[in-house]
Amino acid sequence: MTQFVLRDDDANATTPPARLERAYAPLLDAGFAINLSVIPDVALDTLAPDGARERFLCAAQERHLQKITLTSQHELSQWIRRHPTQLVPLVHGLTHSRVREGTEFGALSAVEAGDRMDRGKSILEAALGAPVEGFVAPWDAMSRGAITAALSRFRVLSTSWLDRAKLAPKHWPAHYAERLRRRETLELDRCRVLRHRGGPIGPSLDPSLVSSTLDRLSSGADVCVVVLHHWMFWESDAPHPVVRALAKALARRRVAPMTSPIAA
Ligand SMILES: [Zn+2]
Repeated sequence: MTQFVLRDDDANATTPPARLERAYAPLLDAGFAINLSVIPDVALDTLAPDGARERFLCAAQERHLQKITLTSQHELSQWIRRHPTQLVPLVHGLTHSRVREGTEFGALSAVEAGDRMDRGKSILEAALGAPVEGFVAPWDAMSRGAITAALSRFRVLSTSWLDRAKLAPKHWPAHYAERLRRRETLELDRCRVLRHRGGPIGPSLDPSLVSSTLDRLSSGADVCVVVLHHWMFWESDAPHPVVRALAKALARRRVAPMTSPIAA
């Protein structure tokens, strides 16, 4: 039976947790755990492709700052710590800025990527007071060096796709074996790598298609990572119909986080 994993990207020091909680109320009320992929040291000047400020940035009053480092004092950290079994953190890059060629980790060497990963991990662990075992690159963009760096630092890596050119030759057999059945999970070194088939579950999806979309994303897979962005769903006070439909569609499926919850 396929394991479904809920992955929410982009929470950061500027995120009001009450708003995030409201957006995901149908999922949280149903008791599902969510892997929150948290930006440790969020840059405040990153622009979306349309030229507007990235929509996960909520710090209008702090625009004079270039970035905000998450600490144990931020509301987001306290909220995660209060719900250790339901909110399971992952490291989402370091700053989520466009460091080189439009992404944070898509064009870095292993040394450059490893340095950013180490800094992000230690900021997040200090803020949450617990080890954080998983990594998600902003925009899921990873160079070959970034993949090498992540494999030696994390127990779980969630990403969109891998190809042979991004993997060391010693990893090709595991990659080919995975592709044969499209199981979407493979062990590389001591890291479990989870692939996903895109993030079509957004506010413009017809809610009546959520269940069949999950079927398509998970067909034949051992693990199906459902990629979500809270900021796409939090414009209104009431939960979005797509989030309600997702909670309903998951009720009949096995849902578990990709990493173990942090200790209470
Ligand atoms: Zn992101």
